[in-house]
Amino acid sequence: MHKKRFIAGALCPKCQQRDKIFIYFEAGEKWRACNRCDFNEPFDQRDNGKPEEIVTRVNQNRLGEKPLAHEVAVEAVKLIDPKKRS
Ligand SMILES: [Zn+2]
Repeated sequence: MHKKRFIAGALCPKCQQRDKIFIYFEAGEKWRACNRCDFNEPFDQRDNGKPEEIVTRVNQNRLGEKPLAHEVAVEAVKLIDPKKRS
């Protein structure tokens, strides 16, 4: 039994359907497959980076863009969060 993890917004290179690609682990290897067609291949991170994180990367600065002042301030608040004391 494999744990399937779908990649939001990923496009199947074979049937061109969106949101059908999922990732699973087989013998320690990362694989990706399509839920609609028989597409199935080893997941190559050099090829696609980390597509499962793309959706969450909305806060990253674009290349050549300076970080905004308020973004720096938010980070500073996180670092001194007093609620994390245990
Ligand atoms: Zn497909």
